[in-house]
Amino acid sequence: ESKDEGRNKLRVFDPGTLHARLLQRQIVGELREAIRSDQLVLYYQPIVELATGRIEGCEALVRWKHPLHGLIMPDQFIPVAEATGLIAELGRWVLRAAVGQLRRWRDAPATAHQDFSMRINVSAADLQSLEFVDDVSEALADAGLTPASLVLELTESAIIRNNELDRYTLASLHRLGVGLEIDDFGAGYSSMGYLRKLPVDRVKVDRQFVKDLGKDPSQLDFLAAVQQVIRSCGLEGIWEGIETAEQAEALRSIGCASGQGYYFGRPLPEAEFTEQLARQVVWPA
Ligand code: C2E
Ligand code: MG
Ligand code: MG
Ligand code: MG
Repeated sequence: ESKDEGRNKLRVFDPGTLHARLLQRQIVGELREAIRSDQLVLYYQPIVELATGRIEGCEALVRWKHPLHGLIMPDQFIPVAEATGLIAELGRWVLRAAVGQLRRWRDAPATAHQDFSMRINVSAADLQSLEFVDDVSEALADAGLTPASLVLELTESAIIRNNELDRYTLASLHRLGVGLEIDDFGAGYSSMGYLRKLPVDRVKVDRQFVKDLGKDPSQLDFLAAVQQVIRSCGLEGIWEGIETAEQAEALRSIGCASGQGYYFGRPLPEAEFTEQLARQVVWPA
């Protein structure tokens, strides 16, 4: 027991831990301020219908324009926000900003495509919030948009926890009519059985599957099998991480519905993405 005590003391006075904690506290304070003073910004990446090369939607990806450190990527602050509860406020900001942006694109003649949809990433904590469904429904109503124009991306880990509240929230969102998608499918441990049971519409296949295309000839057979599994669950796949024309062609040749990746376009700020959207076709059919 005294040994344990010693270890605890050591941890308390460990300068590394202390430093990490102070740093985290500073980041949280700055992030809270950043949300309130609009230092967050959304970038948009196209999702392309592979059969036609048409942009069918986009994913909104958050960045933090830090006054001192410049553009900070989400991997550096989303985990902190999730660990501290700030994610709810951040999520509300993203929801409002994305829906507002879609309204502006719908209103501008050059970008007013009826079935163009906006995707946002939803964190596991959002499903645990009793207000989340109302927040989504209100944001859409305020912007005068139908629920179907918004798609929520949920990671496997968020969705397979399979607790009562999650299931209730998912069912409510489904009833509301927003699109539901599994993000990073296949990235972690997954039982796949859940694909048939959840009220989701589509599956975003993790980019690690596309990465090896072109290097290993049997990889395309493997992807065709994955595609078959997704189809047999009554779902469509969106293939992430397409970086070359060869990868896009290969996926099209096995009948994949949609793709996303640097080949079609990197995530871009509003003005640049608006131009890409106005040009519409990004890939020759
Ligand atoms: P994600 O939802 O899987 O988003 C796709 C990530 O892959 C993005 O990174 C995107 O820039 C990157 N990507 C797209 N195409 C390619 C490609 O062809 N090759 C490669 N190597 N990468 C590609 P990003 O923007 O850094 O976002 C990272 C993650 O942060 C996202 O992964 C998502 O989980 C999270 N995230 C981003 N925005 C939000 C948000 O508003 N809320 C929440 N809760 N999470 C967010
Ligand atoms: Mg995503
Ligand atoms: Mg993803
Ligand atoms: Mg991810």
